Amino acid sequence: MQLTISGALKWASSQLESISDSASLDAEVMLLHVINKQRSYLYTWPDRSLEPEQVFEFKQMLAKRLRGNPIAHIVGEREFWSLPFRVNPTTLIPRPDTEILVETALNLPLAESAKVLDLGTGTGAIALSLAHERSEWQVCAIDKVDDAVALAKENRTNLKLEQVDVFQSDWFDAVECYDFNLIVSNPPYIDEEDEHLSQGDVRFEPASALTAPQRGFADLFYIAESARDYLAPGGYLLLEHGYQQAIELREKLIELGYENVATVRDFGSNDRCTLGRWPR
Ligand code: GLN
Repeated sequence: MQLTISGALKWASSQLESISDSASLDAEVMLLHVINKQRSYLYTWPDRSLEPEQVFEFKQMLAKRLRGNPIAHIVGEREFWSLPFRVNPTTLIPRPDTEILVETALNLPLAESAKVLDLGTGTGAIALSLAHERSEWQVCAIDKVDDAVALAKENRTNLKLEQVDVFQSDWFDAVECYDFNLIVSNPPYIDEEDEHLSQGDVRFEPASALTAPQRGFADLFYIAESARDYLAPGGYLLLEHGYQQAIELREKLIELGYENVATVRDFGSNDRCTLGRWPR
């Protein structure tokens, strides 16, 4: 089938409209992946014909998207903090909301050579973005899932951030450093009963990265409790959480002895991260 760039985009977006809120963007992202060009190319060369093998690949991607697969899985990549991250179904797809956690961490008054730990790193998005901005920080990243550790290491190599220490650990189990200046985490925090789990991209992400018992609080509370043994005096704990979990999490941090407990909103004005400082 002879297909031009603009024809392919029109055809794909009309098919995607029924299953995606971002049909034309989805079509563009997939086509750019197939032709391996920058976005401006689509508007500069709308009448250019695709090669037969490009048409074939584009149709295969479209079929996957029509079955609901996330765009990030189809193209194998997602941008986070303006950096390209390899993505696969073994872990969470990085979310724009999580950039507020990175921004909050970077705004903390930390020493130039601060020791930082990222728990449940997944793709490595948080740890590698922090290391990218603060080359002197000593950043460690752990994940319980071996495939996630391998993925984070692949991203570490691609982003040339070999100084970041990535290893397998079930939360703190294999962590042997007890004076972190900052511990960050985007743990699973969705209620196991949440109805959104049967809609959209999350259907294709592992439950181990999404849901936790106790209405989503189990891992947040466990990390908050355990982190006290791994923080340097005056060190910070910074956790991402659901938009309705801020009050309970702040109460928990205060009960556990953290000071300066505060919540930060994301760019959609939802409560998204809560931080506390371990006393000096
Ligand atoms: N914010 C994500 C969502 O609502 C969940 C991420 C997480 O559980 N850590 O889909």
